[in-house]
Amino acid sequence: MTIDIMGPHNKSRVCSTMADWLQISQHIEQETGRPFHPGAPGEVGGGCINAAFTLTDGEQKYFVKVNQANRQPMFIAEAAGLQEIVNAGAIRVPRPVCYGISGNDAYLVMEHIAFGRNNKDSLVRFGQQLAGMHLHTQPQFGLDHDNTIGSTLQPNQPCDDWIEFLQQHRLGFQLQLATGNGGGASLQRNGEKLLAELNCFFTGYTPVASLLHGDLWSGNYAVDSQGQPVIYDPAVYYGDHEADLAMTELFGSLPQDFYSAYNDVFPIDPGYRTRKKLYNLYHILNHFNLFGGGYRAQAEAMISDLLGEIR
Ligand code: ADP
Repeated sequence: MTIDIMGPHNKSRVCSTMADWLQISQHIEQETGRPFHPGAPGEVGGGCINAAFTLTDGEQKYFVKVNQANRQPMFIAEAAGLQEIVNAGAIRVPRPVCYGISGNDAYLVMEHIAFGRNNKDSLVRFGQQLAGMHLHTQPQFGLDHDNTIGSTLQPNQPCDDWIEFLQQHRLGFQLQLATGNGGGASLQRNGEKLLAELNCFFTGYTPVASLLHGDLWSGNYAVDSQGQPVIYDPAVYYGDHEADLAMTELFGSLPQDFYSAYNDVFPIDPGYRTRKKLYNLYHILNHFNLFGGGYRAQAEAMISDLLGEIR
């Protein structure tokens, strides 16, 4: 089967899958303990990285991501991230069912969620439930395994110190990739200057290691048919909760009802107004590393603004 996919960044690509749907269905049966004899898979558009399908027998329905076999570690990490959010029990996320290799393809099967319409109540619930998830904390920043952000490696080496984690495994890692991708001398020089001064952004503020979605742009949030918020396609790790909030503002903010409801459960420190640019710089550097183009100038401008804050 060959499928044309147009991602949100207008990167058209062709993905071919030779996945053996009988094998995948049998794997689902094994995991759930329920007989499953689906009809032909339905193709789903809208993903950035993978081909996606629904598989249903009219009663049970699953969402299946497919990619080349060598991308299986990405699916293993995604399944673990989804499970981490399921375990926190604060917000709905698709339950992972199973993953494996079929022919030349890796697959990840998860619960299919029927989406509904967003409204004021669901936004308020989203704010409350995301804050609830962020109140789920652990002692160390990072995670017990690496994962991906987009298709870029996201190193999660556990660390006791947030500033060090941010410096090395988030901004420093992306900056190094950007240098390798032709980011240029001034991006590198000013980026390194910023990394050396990160402490300045945390005066009087001590982040805790919150369970984060990690890639919370508007395309990774929806509402189910009951009006309950759903998040999906995570790049989970434990970090400053402001990093998730910042990403909800990267491509246009959510309505104020969301932030007010969030703030009632997990108060937002006033310094967030400045730090959000620091956190979104990580994603803009990643966008430069994935797509190039104007993201370099955007990263340079953000670094220059941030350096301006500490002069
Ligand atoms: P990718 O990993 O390629 O970025 P996504 O996880 O973003 O793919 O999924 C692509 C689209 O499929 C999403 O934008 C969403 O509309 C839909 N989707 C994702 N997960 C589910 C699910 N579990 N059930 C139903 N639809 C889903």
